[in-house]
Amino acid sequence: MANKVQGVRGMNDVLPDDARYWAFFESTVQRWLHAYGYREIRMPILERTELFVRSIGEVTDIVEKEMYTFTDELNGEQLTLRPEGTASCVRSAIEHNLLYPGPQRLWYRGPMFRHERPQKGRYRQFHQIGVEALGFAGPDIDAEHLLMCARLWKELGLDGITLELNSLGSAEARTRYRAKLVTYLESRVGELDEDAKRRMHSNPLRVLDSKNPAMQAVIEAAPQLADDLDDESAQAFATLQASLRAAGLAFRINPRLVRGLDYYNGTVFEWVTDRLGAQGTVCAGGRYDGLIEQIGGKPAPACGFAMGVERLLALLVDGSAAVPETVPDAYIVRQGDAAMAYGEQVAERMRDAGLAVILHCGGGSFKSQMKKADGSGARFAVIIGDDEARAGLLTVKSLRVELEEGRQEQVRREQVRVPLSETCEIIKTR
Ligand code: ATP
Ligand code: MG
Repeated sequence: MANKVQGVRGMNDVLPDDARYWAFFESTVQRWLHAYGYREIRMPILERTELFVRSIGEVTDIVEKEMYTFTDELNGEQLTLRPEGTASCVRSAIEHNLLYPGPQRLWYRGPMFRHERPQKGRYRQFHQIGVEALGFAGPDIDAEHLLMCARLWKELGLDGITLELNSLGSAEARTRYRAKLVTYLESRVGELDEDAKRRMHSNPLRVLDSKNPAMQAVIEAAPQLADDLDDESAQAFATLQASLRAAGLAFRINPRLVRGLDYYNGTVFEWVTDRLGAQGTVCAGGRYDGLIEQIGGKPAPACGFAMGVERLLALLVDGSAAVPETVPDAYIVRQGDAAMAYGEQVAERMRDAGLAVILHCGGGSFKSQMKKADGSGARFAVIIGDDEARAGLLTVKSLRVELEEGRQEQVRREQVRVPLSETCEIIKTR
């Protein structure tokens, strides 16, 4: 045998046994977004590298070391597999003048790519559901986003996901704060790791985002952004907190929350859980009022968030949320020349009637076919031998194991021989 070709490290297959969790998640999410009036947008997975460098920022983990970037050999273009969706979504909205008629509520889904060290909850291909409100100044829309998230956790049956908030202030406020922070970091330069030393001058706020445990003491004692907020951001942040309190949504202010992408300003947030170890952030976002202008659009405020689908699914799978397996209605077993052809017709008629039907293929004894029928999870077996084919009838057998009330004894599986129309009737009504 030839060598196996392996999949790419950090990029996962979703196998059929797990696909039902994805389907349940996606259908719940679609209903939820519809309930808030968000419309889907689908962007390509590849973009020009420049888009991400300009939006996410040159001195960030993503742009410095996590992007899958390559040159298109055919025309020399620098391209990147998207590491996130906001930049693409904004690029598309600008390119197609989506904001011309007014603000837009948009959402997208799909794979994102970051060259990170693969571990539980951290992959090189992962999936996000992203929500963006373009052209909205807030803070009413920020409140909408947070209440939306809370509702989704409820609809997914997830608890223990808590909200952390911070405000990064305006660009000017950040410049003031930045100067203070640099002075502080210089005073403790001996305790900084290599990354922090390098970023201290190019992008000091990133230092606060460090995941290095050895850096946490320095970060804890750093001056706080909250003390330097501009009036407008402070006012918006206060109004947002008031509406969350009025809605009964609990939150915690986390002054260290700075987010790993440069385009954020004003209110930012993360939804976190302690059930996923180090990869506890399941959803994150905030305002990015400068981004649209920064990548060539007419200035307009905006905010949004993205959730990590794999992390939410991990909670869903080991939580108590019951996700039903979808099973076929019937499995058709057939043997003999007449039965083979008749089986095909029967299967198509049953599907016309709206039933989900597996037609046995590949031959074999009735006994082995019945085993397959049992294993398929189908509710009924439809049995076709030459007798049935000649008479134009079908033998229908319930495959459900039913226990008679109060007794640990299996009820004899009922079996009837009936015409096609009655077969469909039986299967539909039981
Ligand atoms: P983290 O701090 O965990 O690296 P991040 O701040 O880089 O996350 P964002 O860019 O804000 O993440 O992406 C939003 C969400 O996407 C995250 O909160 C997380 O749930 C998910 N996510 C980000 N990177 C990965 C990854 N490599 N694998 C799986 N999920 C991810
Ligand atoms: Mg990251």
